[in-house]
Amino acid sequence: MKEMYPVVVPNDMVNPVLNGQKTTMRFAVRWPLFSRSDGYKRRIYIRKEVDHVNELLKKKTRNPMENISTPFRKGRRLYVKEAWHMCGADNPDGSPHTEFVYRADSETCKFCGKPVKWKSAIFMPSFIARIILQVERVWIERLQDITKNGVLKEGFGKDLVRKYAGNSHNYRLAFSRFWDSLHARKGYSWKKNPHVWVVKFFHLSRGKI
Ligand SMILES: [Zn+2]
Repeated sequence: MKEMYPVVVPNDMVNPVLNGQKTTMRFAVRWPLFSRSDGYKRRIYIRKEVDHVNELLKKKTRNPMENISTPFRKGRRLYVKEAWHMCGADNPDGSPHTEFVYRADSETCKFCGKPVKWKSAIFMPSFIARIILQVERVWIERLQDITKNGVLKEGFGKDLVRKYAGNSHNYRLAFSRFWDSLHARKGYSWKKNPHVWVVKFFHLSRGKI
């Protein structure tokens, strides 16, 4: 089996991955720390470097920028960490059952019908992952460069747009709010327009690993 890397997928995004609607994911680029002359360290980037990285990524060069860590290279396999639980409740007929269940399927256990206390996706062990992805292409762009079409490829259908942007029907607004709910407090808010890795992937069935 090829080495696989974990990727945490929020609950809202699991079904869009499963049904093939979501084909890209964005992650903030963590630029390396450089010391300034006054001793402070800060993350900096040089515009020229972004073009350079994108150029090298096109040529499929391995690890074009040694000091930026990204597990998202073409051909990499990723396993999806999602909200889960092992249900140990009894079936309606009183017989015991233990099954791994996934929150994206239903808020109640699909085997016994009882409510489940979900565990965070972060703590999902790899052996119960059911979704395996393969990286097809990677590039860097600015977060706000995303178009409506780009938001669709991020897995936003009408329901998710309504959830995050109300009746505005504004896809980019929905995506910006979704993004901020995950990344704003880490310093990568929509407003700051950070550089992001755009990872295009396809879904591998477990049988192909
Ligand atoms: Zn159950």
